[in-house]
Amino acid sequence: MNNDNNTIYEFDVNLICDFFLNTERQGPGSPEATIKALSFIENLTDKSLIADIGCGTGGQTMVLAQNVSGCITGLDFFPGFIDKFNCNAEELNLQDRVKGIVGSMEKLPFEKESMDLIWSEGAIYNIGFERGLNEWSDFLKTGGYIAVSESSWFTQERPKEISDFWTQCYPEIDTISTKVSQMQKAGYIPVATFILPESCWTDHYYLPLVKTRKMFLDKYAGNRIAEKFVEYSHHEEELYSKYKAFYGYVFYIGKKI
Ligand code: SAH
Repeated sequence: MNNDNNTIYEFDVNLICDFFLNTERQGPGSPEATIKALSFIENLTDKSLIADIGCGTGGQTMVLAQNVSGCITGLDFFPGFIDKFNCNAEELNLQDRVKGIVGSMEKLPFEKESMDLIWSEGAIYNIGFERGLNEWSDFLKTGGYIAVSESSWFTQERPKEISDFWTQCYPEIDTISTKVSQMQKAGYIPVATFILPESCWTDHYYLPLVKTRKMFLDKYAGNRIAEKFVEYSHHEEELYSKYKAFYGYVFYIGKKI
């Protein structure tokens, strides 16, 4: 990477979305991790209402839908992702109980205290972990669950290079114990946390990006911003490989009191 120090936020959002449109996932995760997180959640029935916030094209939503019987609304602010989401739901014949809508996680269009489960993989950072936990709680029934994955530090101290990188792109990254305490303060019982295995980054996220990067560079040949975005994505992957002992994604599952 040339040393312009771009953060992902400095790239045009439509360009980023176009990059990720043809990937199954838009962040680290896996069907196994989704199913494991789901295993901590009780009392779901075919009447349950579930929201998947920042659903992207719905990789994890379809896994959820195949493992629970309630109705799921996927919400994302990028219409291209939602179109793809709804096509995916139809292909799997889930369209009667899985629907994607365009919307903002900062202004959820649900009734207060209506949801049994709020799900969000690799997306709550867009609103911020604490703010998301606090605001989304209004939409959960008492006894309802929240399950979110969030980048977290594994150690108290870490090398400057990775600390600087994260401080620039997501200053709210913190240790697992701090995040659990934030969950408690927001009015949830912390039911479970687990670290996503490395394969959620390598096999399910970075490996498919090899093809995505190539297709994207072909499409945007000569576009310097697109090239820089791909360089950024390589840089992020290199940092993960170098510093994976110090950070990763963690699933946090809580129950509203
Ligand atoms: N859950 C998916 C996507 C994670 S990427 C997965 O794990 O693969 C983060 C997603 O959040 C993107 O799809 C992005 O479009 C969406 N997003 C970002 N800011 C948002 C906002 N303010 N409201 C709704 N969605 C948002």
